[in-house]
Amino acid sequence: MIIDGKKTSQDILEELSEQIKKHQGSRAPCLAYILVGEYEASHLYVKRKVQACERVGINVKGNVFEESVCQKQILELIHGLNLDPTVDGILVQMPLPSHINAQQIVEAVSPQKDVDGFHPFNIGRLLLGYTPFFVPCTPLGIHELLMRSNIQVSHKNVVIMGRSNIVGKPLAALLMQKTSQTNATVTVVHSHTSNLEEITLNADVLITAMGSPELVKAHMVKKGAIVIDVGINRLHGKLVGDVDFKNVEPQASQITPVPGGVGPMTIAMLLSNTLKSYQMKAQLT
Ligand code: NAD
Repeated sequence: MIIDGKKTSQDILEELSEQIKKHQGSRAPCLAYILVGEYEASHLYVKRKVQACERVGINVKGNVFEESVCQKQILELIHGLNLDPTVDGILVQMPLPSHINAQQIVEAVSPQKDVDGFHPFNIGRLLLGYTPFFVPCTPLGIHELLMRSNIQVSHKNVVIMGRSNIVGKPLAALLMQKTSQTNATVTVVHSHTSNLEEITLNADVLITAMGSPELVKAHMVKKGAIVIDVGINRLHGKLVGDVDFKNVEPQASQITPVPGGVGPMTIAMLLSNTLKSYQMKAQLT
């Protein structure tokens, strides 16, 4: 069975839109983005995020810089956005050019406007099991997709392929939280794991986030496993995931497609985090 991330994300956008309509009369929620350089994929991702914001009624403030921008200019902008009471969320589209210190940029964003959930304050709280202001969008989107598909991870072996700071690590932290909706037994594998297949074959839920086109073959997947493919790769001009979908689908009980799986959920969670930030502020004033 296919897990339809596109449909689920559209349901979420509808729900967000309804919630935002209830705030009519006060200002709309606002997401400010920072986009640097000409990297085509980044422009495409930002365009999709902006379109989704417009659809649900979130205002967008765009800040586009040329590749040659210096660290100080971006930091000054972030400091201004942190102080701007009309801005609820700040998104810095990654990757940044190599002359920019990305870690310093991420740490400059106020944890209370860090709707990407990348600030060490939020990541640290997630890891410690304290409530962060925001959970990173892709892990949050995967969890939401699992819940809305009635898939429980408690008591299950979840294997995550990839240990990046934006997907693998926070996803592992999220799914092992002590809550009835999580409580998973999590194993993380990566490019230096030697007995990969032995571990993936033990997965009740296999989540791939490697950026290796169609690396996961049918013989690596347990019969009846749930497969969540985070990878977005170009192969022979086509968009594919990390999973060899055609051959793995018959082996899996449920599986996400690429495109139309985790990707749209990531965008929906960015909007959800922005609304959450807006609502947190409304409670303070
Ligand atoms: P990354 O390059 O930062 O990390 C990749 C991880 O995969 C590393 O930990 C590496 O050790 C591991 N890895 C690579 N090859 C491996 C192999 N052969 N065996 C085992 N482990 C291996 O990547 P990232 O930023 O986490 O992104 C991963 C993929 O997910 C990319 O295709 C990216 O485009 C996609 N992505 C999708 C979304 C979405 O919303 N769907 C969001 C973020 C990333």
